[in-house]
Amino acid sequence: MTAALLSMLAMTAIVALRYLATSGAFAFATGKVRPGLYRGLGPQIRREIGWSLASAAIYGVSAGIVAWGWAERGWTQIYTGWTAYPLWYLPLAPLLYLLAHDTWFYWTHRLFHRPWWFARVHAVHHASRPPTAWSAMSFSPLEALSGALVIPALVFAIPIHAAMLLAVLAIMTLMGVTNHMGWELFPRALAGPRSWLITASHHQLHHDRYARNFGLYFRLWDRVCGTDGGIAVPPAPRRTDVRQNDGQTSGSI
Ligand SMILES: [Zn+2]
Ligand SMILES: [Zn+2]
Repeated sequence: MTAALLSMLAMTAIVALRYLATSGAFAFATGKVRPGLYRGLGPQIRREIGWSLASAAIYGVSAGIVAWGWAERGWTQIYTGWTAYPLWYLPLAPLLYLLAHDTWFYWTHRLFHRPWWFARVHAVHHASRPPTAWSAMSFSPLEALSGALVIPALVFAIPIHAAMLLAVLAIMTLMGVTNHMGWELFPRALAGPRSWLITASHHQLHHDRYARNFGLYFRLWDRVCGTDGGIAVPPAPRRTDVRQNDGQTSGSI
């Protein structure tokens, strides 16, 4: 029991520090790339950090139980031997995780935009107007719980190498922060209107318009279900676009 508690505490600390380091780094970069973008948002950012640290505890409890079960009880399908599965499976597993997480997120996100659910579960996240690099984990406890169960459930269902699981968590953290920071990090080939990936330009439009762009990593479900609103117009500017201010207006809304 003590070991399980320690595992939950350790995971909470890891998730909280990961959030503070990643969001802090991109908030710092935002100050350099888009000076003044977060001007006047101090009270909002303090609320975002508060909700995010509460979310870190919820993620930490869930991850801590699974990590303890993996280490002490042999739970989960996480493996560490490089030859335990064929080498081609190594990159396939994280792709399956991202697709499964994206599917869960898309459908729960659509549910959370129904009025009853929005008020009780999702309003906290949309209180960030505009979102910032600190908004990445700014969720109500119920929404954090919904997110915190996905990866811990998947490790029981889909085998994955421990290093690939860390890669999934790194992608999840990076995209969560950069999608909210208010400017585009990725080149147009990855972030443009025809891309299948979700980056800041796409998620920014969700925060602007609410009823479009519900996905997390991929535009697959948004396109299949007709909820893809394209990218923000003008797109969140890339670092190299800021000084050029080239007035891009492409988008499909
Ligand atoms: Zn968001
Ligand atoms: Zn939403």
